[in-house]
Amino acid sequence: MKTVSILGSTGAIGVQALDVARMHGIRVAALAAHSNVELLAKQAEEFRPKLICVYDEAFADKLYDLTKETGAEIVTGMDGLCKATTLDSAELVLNGVVGTIGLKPTLAAIEAGKDVALANKEALVAGGDIVMEAVRRKGINLYPVDSEHSAIFQCLQGSRRRDLRKIILTASGGPFFGKRRKELENVTVSQALAHPTWKMGKKITVDSATLMNKGLEFIEAMRLFGVSADEIEIVIHRESVVHSAVEFRDGAVIAQLGVPDMRVPIQYALTCPERLESPVKALSLTDYGSLSFYKPDFEAFDCIKSALSAAAEGGTAPAIVSGADEEAVALFLSEKINFLQIGELVSGALKAISPRPLRTPGDVYEAVSEARDYVIKTYENRLK
Ligand code: MG
Repeated sequence: MKTVSILGSTGAIGVQALDVARMHGIRVAALAAHSNVELLAKQAEEFRPKLICVYDEAFADKLYDLTKETGAEIVTGMDGLCKATTLDSAELVLNGVVGTIGLKPTLAAIEAGKDVALANKEALVAGGDIVMEAVRRKGINLYPVDSEHSAIFQCLQGSRRRDLRKIILTASGGPFFGKRRKELENVTVSQALAHPTWKMGKKITVDSATLMNKGLEFIEAMRLFGVSADEIEIVIHRESVVHSAVEFRDGAVIAQLGVPDMRVPIQYALTCPERLESPVKALSLTDYGSLSFYKPDFEAFDCIKSALSAAAEGGTAPAIVSGADEEAVALFLSEKINFLQIGELVSGALKAISPRPLRTPGDVYEAVSEARDYVIKTYENRLK
């Protein structure tokens, strides 16, 4: 089994990845987290990585005190994150970082020839073809961790790309499924964080409530599987049992099913092509009885429209949407804007900022920070 570096080890994906590592005795080369040094230190004590990174360097001294005994090297910031990904002993990098911050370490891992298990969808959305071009040039394996993309990846095993007609990308619909736009105005942060089927981090849970998550995943699927926008159909599927499906040219549809538990796609990304035992509950179709499917409501959930138009525009447009969304979700989580304003700020950013061609990672960072600035300034101007 491959030795892994885990970025975002104290987040929802990281913690579940370490569950998988614990169960199968997967060795850990490096751990990296944003600022939760108490949990990071506990993880380090158990998994004994060579290197530990805390992104926020204000926590470095505390982390050092907590992990002295392990003898691990402590690093900080973006340089530290990249060091954790490029460590000689790491064969696979699991990137569970939230946001476009994950792009640089993803590229660093690929350039260093590491296989990548990617949970950080923003890197792929904002990074455009830069990431996939690097993957092809270096010949590394990129394993999707996102449940839908893992499903599509699994459904495509053993088939020919030219036979693929369409991807059916499923979406739970989030906690506000069925609500009209008017009814979304006063929904609270805690209501937005109460996802019906998946246990995830805060940013992605809010993105699931606005359906921005599905918009980002739509672009993620275009990149990962080299399909165009009209080759993907988004279908709301309330039970989150069908994790996505592919349709071939003869009309055959292959879907991947299972109970909603991220440890399945995480484990497959870490051990692919091996399938190992898992403590995840077995799927009982008769317990469910029936499964439901609906068309998405693009009017009430307008974030998804911004993502689709960014996909059509190309260049830095997806980076603008991704950056604006990150900032708008942060404002919503700190109760500074209401739920519908997330979508307004994202579409506002896309209108206000002209997308440019995307050639280098620098173009991505510039577009992302321009979009974040737009959101902050628009919010501040409203207060005046
Ligand atoms: Mg997903």
